[in-house]
Parts: sequence; C-alpha cells; structure tokens
Amino acid sequence: MKIILDGKHLNIKFSSAHFIIEHEKCSKLHGHNFYVTVEIEGEIIDEKGFVIDFLHIKNMLKSICNNLDHKVLVPEKYANIVNDYVEIKTDKIYKIPREDVILLPVNNVTSEELAKFIFDKLKVYLKEYKNVKWLKVIVEEEPGQGASIEGRL
Ligand SMILES: [Zn+2]
Repeated sequence: MKIILDGKHLNIKFSSAHFIIEHEKCSKLHGHNFYVTVEIEGEIIDEKGFVIDFLHIKNMLKSICNNLDHKVLVPEKYANIVNDYVEIKTDKIYKIPREDVILLPVNNVTSEELAKFIFDKLKVYLKEYKNVKWLKVIVEEEPGQGASIEGRL
C-alpha cells in the first residue's frame, strides 16, 4: 500500500533563498517556495489500519521544512564562518549573518540536491517504522518544475 502527501495541497513547503554556483542566470541570489511531496510504501499495520499516521509524517516534514524556511541555503564547502557571519566565496563574495544561513552538505543547492537531502533526513526518521519499505521525495521549486528521488529503506 502506498500513501501520498502532496505538498502543494497540504502547504508543506519552505521559502528560501539560494543561488546556483556558476550558473549564467541563477548564480544571482534569489528565492523559491519549495514544495515537498512524499510517497511512502509499506504494509498496513493491521490493528491501526494505516501504513503510517499522516500526522507523524507531517510532523517530520514540518520539522525538516521549518529548519530550511526563511533562510539562505548554502553549500557548506563554499562557506567560511567568521564571527557572526558566513562568507561565501564563489566567483563573487557574499557576507550574510550566520543566523540567516543554513549550510548544507551538497555541491550546489538545486532541487535535485534538496530532494536527496530531505530523502536522507526522512530515511532516518522512518527507521523506527519497520513496516515502511520504500520512500519517494519530490521537491518542486515552482509548479511543474522539480526533482524526485526514490528508493528502498
Ligand atoms: Zn533557484
């Protein structure tokens, strides 16, 4: 059995700034409302009648999205923390207050990398749900444009 939570309908999203390093257009700092959709496959737990409580998944997604929301998302390898600021050196230099930045273990902050980052986070949360076997995460940076990753847990 598969369950689906569609971020566009449920308002599961994070509004964040990013830039794509060395991209002709997207290397300028800009933002998106990133919507997160998940599909989870597993056996129904007989006594409960569901695969996993929707409320539990929503709480997991909210926790992940809240951490990224209203932040500047930056690949950690380009960042240097100096006092209360993060200096980011690419082909130009940004200096942003530390509290406004989330450093991510990615090569570039793309929808693909964000989908993988969220997939890996959710995988950890879902470890305790032994009946859950498969997960798909979709991140859309605008309606109809995004990336998905799926795999066994
Ligand atoms: Zn963008």
